Amino acid sequence: MAALILDGTKIAQQIRSEVAAEVRTMAVAGVRPGLAVVLVGHNPASEIYVRGKVKACEEVGIYSEKLTPPETASTTELLTLIEDLNRRDEIDGILVQLPLPRQVDSKKVLLSVDPAKDVDGFHPMNVGFLSTQRPGLVPCTPAGVLEILKRSNIPIAGREAVVVGRSDIVGKPAAMLLINANATVTVCHSKTHDLPGVCRRADILVAAIGRAGMITRDFVKPGATVIDVGMNTITDEREFQKLFGGNSKREETFRKKGTTLVGDVHPGVAEFAGAMTPVPGGVGPLTIAMLMFNTVKAAKMRRGSSVPELSRA
Ligand code: NAP
Repeated sequence: MAALILDGTKIAQQIRSEVAAEVRTMAVAGVRPGLAVVLVGHNPASEIYVRGKVKACEEVGIYSEKLTPPETASTTELLTLIEDLNRRDEIDGILVQLPLPRQVDSKKVLLSVDPAKDVDGFHPMNVGFLSTQRPGLVPCTPAGVLEILKRSNIPIAGREAVVVGRSDIVGKPAAMLLINANATVTVCHSKTHDLPGVCRRADILVAAIGRAGMITRDFVKPGATVIDVGMNTITDEREFQKLFGGNSKREETFRKKGTTLVGDVHPGVAEFAGAMTPVPGGVGPLTIAMLMFNTVKAAKMRRGSSVPELSRA
């Protein structure tokens, strides 16, 4: 039987509506959450992401500010800029769009963000809060993964979860959130032996690898829930045919654009999984929704107010 497709766009829209309602309530008390986005230089992909984030802020009523230091900015210049944002009371969230130019010490810059305003949840203090189950800011994409599971009523407690990928941004925090939600969690990476065998144990399989269509049916226990975090752009005709041959809708857009977005999970897995997120339209939309949520959460935590109801992370 074909998998239930978990509609990330719809879930993200629900979260954005909830955040917008929270922002309206805060406005009555004279508070408007504010997000500063730091975009260094002119990376085209980063520019698109930042545009999406600023637009989302407008839609939910969050104040946003885009800071655009030049490509040549030094670590010291960025540290000065962050210190200024740390001090400003109307700024609740600071997001430094990655990657930073090569001459910049990215770790030093990220470490300089006030943990209370670290809406990306990358600061070691927030990493520690997550692993010790204290209130803090949780990385957006993994938090979005958990929202998809919970809002789709996928049971987590007591289930076997396998996360493929151990990055600080996705794999590790996703694993930590699943542990906190009482799953039994295995984390895999490029040195894991018998990856398909380990993945087949999973009731919940999270793929955060960065390899187009790598997770095929051999990796999936029939009926498992498969969450595809991967976002890979493919342009090669042969690779396209291997993944989407016979899919006339995809073929039409691929012909037109010469490119298509694919996850880490082979589309054929949809025939074996119990539920699955699509790419696009799965985890992707949740990332910005959770950024909006985190900005409101930061605004409330900084003012000692209780955190909004929608927090499930
Ligand atoms: P990353 O930092 O490159 O980490 C990739 C992980 O996958 C690493 O832990 C790596 O193992 C593992 N890996 C690579 N090849 C493997 C293989 N053949 N077998 C098993 N494990 C393998 O990537 P990331 O930042 O976590 O991102 C992962 C994917 O998610 C990318 O496609 C990215 O574009 C996407 N992403 C999507 C969103 C979203 O909003 N939807 C947000 C962030 C990222 P080692 O540690 O051993 O090298």
